[in-house]
Amino acid sequence: MSLTFQVLGQPGRDNALFVKVDTGQSQTRFLFDCGDGCPHQVGPTELCEVEHLCFSHLHMDHVAGFDLFFRLNFDRVAKENRIWVPHGSGEVMHHRLRGFMWNLVDEKQEGEWLVSEIAPDTVRTARFLAKEGFRTAHAEPEQERTDRTIIAGEGFTVEAMLLDHGTPSVGYLVREANRVNVDTAKLGAKGFKPGPWLKRLRGPGAAPGETVEIGGVAHSLGTLQTELLVTTLGDSIAYLTDFRLTPATADELVPSLRGVTTVVCESQYRAADADLANKVMHSTAEEVASMAARAAIGRLVLFHFSDRYDAVARREMLDDARTIFANTTLPDGW
Ligand SMILES: [Zn+2]
Ligand SMILES: [Zn+2]
Repeated sequence: MSLTFQVLGQPGRDNALFVKVDTGQSQTRFLFDCGDGCPHQVGPTELCEVEHLCFSHLHMDHVAGFDLFFRLNFDRVAKENRIWVPHGSGEVMHHRLRGFMWNLVDEKQEGEWLVSEIAPDTVRTARFLAKEGFRTAHAEPEQERTDRTIIAGEGFTVEAMLLDHGTPSVGYLVREANRVNVDTAKLGAKGFKPGPWLKRLRGPGAAPGETVEIGGVAHSLGTLQTELLVTTLGDSIAYLTDFRLTPATADELVPSLRGVTTVVCESQYRAADADLANKVMHSTAEEVASMAARAAIGRLVLFHFSDRYDAVARREMLDDARTIFANTTLPDGW
């Protein structure tokens, strides 16, 4: 299993994030936002495999690259076509889908798109059809949100957190499932022969008193699970951009981000410009680093810097953040 990512775009320009989860059995690709030039960096082969396009919000600098992605995939049937946006943005997305002359589409175009609006307590989805030129929003049954999870995939989950950017902005968190393996050295030391019982051993936790038979002898399943199973925590990555990180927001985010492997987070302003950050509903590098330290994450990747800063200033912002949270980096190549 692996979780890989690539921060897209240039410093001080539009940005996005590409994530690939490979479970060994299947691969799932995510594109978080679609800034100008960002999908080009992923390349057409991978873009045609992206199943989930997850928007933080629909300000221009996060949508400007959408047309390339859509042009490649508008009539795709090999994969599900899913777009996620914050609540209140479904109509803007509908305009994006309709915003071409579709006189050449016909019944043969079977592509369908599901656009889901993420609200605090619900997910509201509309289905759009290529053969209709995306004219009609066909409402799907509204789903209640009982927790942060919006996608429960094979071997991974995606959680969504609503943030305040003056308009709602969605933060996303992709988690690989934990891996449970049998410790073969311990198995060998016990002299147990592999058999059907191993499948049960790796399955759900033992019921009270449950036993498995190995070579004609009954053994306590609970004891064996404790002794022989090794759990490896799955990787995780959060994508947080375009939001005002107030102390109250940090209090909400810290428990959700605790122990996350990588957090890719906006860093529009330096601490000296906190007034500006406050005014335009963005965050400073130091605020973000403080949240990372409190949540004890693995690595913080700063991105989406304001274009008012040059390379020297960005380097200083990185250094400032590192005094608060040591394992802070810029994206590769920045
Ligand atoms: Zn932005
Ligand atoms: Zn924005």
